[in-house]
Amino acid sequence: MRGVKVNLNGQTKVLGVIGDPIEHTMSPYIHNRLIEELSHNHVYVPFHVKKDGLEKAIHGAHALGIQGLNVTIPHKEEVLDHLVEVDILAKQIGAVNTLKKTANGYKGYNTDAYGLLTSLEHNNISLKDKVVLLIGAGGAAKAAAILCASQGVKKLMIMNRTIKKAEDLAYVVKKYYDTQIEIYPLNSVVLDKKIHLCIQTTPIGMHGHSNEAPISESELYQKIEVAVDIIYNPMETLFLKRAREHKALTLNGIEMLFYQGIKAYEIWFDMTIPLTIQNKLLLEIKNKLQRGI
Ligand code: NAP
Repeated sequence: MRGVKVNLNGQTKVLGVIGDPIEHTMSPYIHNRLIEELSHNHVYVPFHVKKDGLEKAIHGAHALGIQGLNVTIPHKEEVLDHLVEVDILAKQIGAVNTLKKTANGYKGYNTDAYGLLTSLEHNNISLKDKVVLLIGAGGAAKAAAILCASQGVKKLMIMNRTIKKAEDLAYVVKKYYDTQIEIYPLNSVVLDKKIHLCIQTTPIGMHGHSNEAPISESELYQKIEVAVDIIYNPMETLFLKRAREHKALTLNGIEMLFYQGIKAYEIWFDMTIPLTIQNKLLLEIKNKLQRGI
């Protein structure tokens, strides 16, 4: 697998991602390959920022002229307090994963919903009139819930360890959309005979915890037609494996990650990235993950 070639000079623009932990992020690879394909004079680097350093990091990044930042766990919600402007979709979702430099500070966007939608569309999966089970009620789940509501799902079931957080998420969605919503504790069995789409958004099953799944009930797996896990490492989580064994179609989170990154780059530089480049890079990244590099 080829590496990423970087030529730095006095005009190089810096981009990056802030999070804690940050060591395992794929974003620098995706963006630096994108930069290379586009022949732009930019570089994208990871920044390890702890919770108590978030405000200083945002102001410091602006002072340093950093053009664009991605924001990941655990800063997606807290970062809202340190922005000069927030895009309407990010406001609805209540979480930001992309910052674009403006004269006086950063404007926040959320490209996770776009990433998830594009990934579903790319695999011919539609949300319209579907019964959807959403596992989790954190930052990524918020983007998924608003997406489901905006795409006209028939019913949204939110299943989460902390019921209060699921209720809060339902309240947020109801503020904007007239969606039928039901709340369930984690691992409980739902009444519906069929779950058209189950979207798994918790970190359970991630690399290092790959023998864990958020649900264990066979009865639940039997009802799932399409299972989506937004985790991409491992490429097949235990949740996806069990869903596949119960005959569900499965999709992991790599395309969501890829397309949210594409959208962020388009926002930073007011441009559209050619589909030929997108398709080439997506294939390359999938191969890279497959080989576990
Ligand atoms: P978050 O805001 O911290 O939310 C985590 C959610 O998972 C909460 O609902 C939490 O439940 C639940 N959870 C965490 N640990 C749990 C456990 N041990 N048992 C039961 N429930 C547990 O995180 P996030 O930002 O939404 O990210 C979640 C995952 O999505 C991460 O793995 C992240 O890497 C991935 N992600 C992927 C993409 C992509 O592009 N593919 C984009 C964004 C995020 P409680 O409410 O009970 O705490």
